[in-house]
Amino acid sequence: MATLGYIEAEVARLRDEGVYREPAVLTGRQGARAVIQGRPVINLASNNYLGLAGHPRLVRAMVEATERLGVGSGAVRTIVGTMQVHLDLERDLAAFKGSEAALTFQSGFTANLAVIPVLAGDGDGIFSDALNHASIIDGCRLSRAEVVRFRHADMDDLADQLRRHRGRFRHAVVITDGVFSMDGDVARLPDLVPLAERYDAAVYVDDAHGSGVMGPGGRGTVAHFGLEDRVHVQIGTLSKAVGVVGGYAAAARPLVELLTQRARPFLFSTSHPPGVAAACREALRVLADEPERVERLWANTRRFKEGLRALGFDTGASETPITPVMAFDERRALALSDRLLEEGVFAQGIVFPTVPRGMARVRTIVTAEHTPEDLDAALGAFERAGRAVGLLA
Ligand SMILES: *Cc1c(COP(=O)(O)O)cnc(C)c1O
Repeated sequence: MATLGYIEAEVARLRDEGVYREPAVLTGRQGARAVIQGRPVINLASNNYLGLAGHPRLVRAMVEATERLGVGSGAVRTIVGTMQVHLDLERDLAAFKGSEAALTFQSGFTANLAVIPVLAGDGDGIFSDALNHASIIDGCRLSRAEVVRFRHADMDDLADQLRRHRGRFRHAVVITDGVFSMDGDVARLPDLVPLAERYDAAVYVDDAHGSGVMGPGGRGTVAHFGLEDRVHVQIGTLSKAVGVVGGYAAAARPLVELLTQRARPFLFSTSHPPGVAAACREALRVLADEPERVERLWANTRRFKEGLRALGFDTGASETPITPVMAFDERRALALSDRLLEEGVFAQGIVFPTVPRGMARVRTIVTAEHTPEDLDAALGAFERAGRAVGLLA
């Protein structure tokens, strides 16, 4: 026991500092309304943007494939764990993303760990936005390439870093989130892409929060800007708007071919259950058949954002369904989140180290499933809670 005493001490320290986090527990479905900690709430915390996590067509597709094919794939992709449904999904994803080919991974997190080390290694350079997702940071570390950070969404700083450092590297990659998960702002791709081209750097966009949300038919941030032919890698997740679980890379065929030979999670970790792949395929069909889901998501986004701003909240730089309500002070952000829960609204307080100190906030995400009444009720709760914690006059 004493050998691991330092672990116990670390847990005690986290508890003492009041930063040890217990996850909220759902006792029913994930949805716009949910039961959290035994309390019915309006749920403003999930990434279930289009309400697909509980969509009857996806549920049926998963059950049907599971009954026909079993609950597990039984092997890694390269041994005997590639089922026809995996290949069918990858073909569908490539068509969805406007790329030549696509490859799936166990999660979006895993996709970054898999792909970045294949693109870049020793002697190469990665130019990475300062607010990129943790899985990009970890993928960069695993790659052994040198990482040059540029200030968040600052294209002058990116230009400066490319000019100063590109010459030292054999290959270079510029990596950015498509939609940034804590601020809800969108990567400046129309400026970023030409810059990368000028310096012969590949462009890698992790569009976890953009797929199913941005662009025509929810095809993502790259499609939103019409840059499919000039972005080399689009990473997506199947766990957010798609509503299931998984990640993928959409790219030209040679890169996908090399990933099948070198990407370690592809080679050494078991593939998705067939039911997961079948449900993801069905999600893409639902997206095509029910375009009103994306439209409702944006109508809800506009209504809620305008409501928050009209109340006097600072919603930062958000341009998407992710809307931070800035509290700045850590305690005030957590108090606001607690107070909202008492009012029947679940929205997560986000503090250091997830965001910089002094930039604490409550993050809200609306979905296509929220009704106008849900949103108006949530705004009422925000008004009362905002006054109670001294954020509103
Ligand atoms: C959520 C997220 C991921 C992780 O996706 P999972 O499928 O949940 O593992 C990766 N990258 C970004 C930018 C994300 O926002």
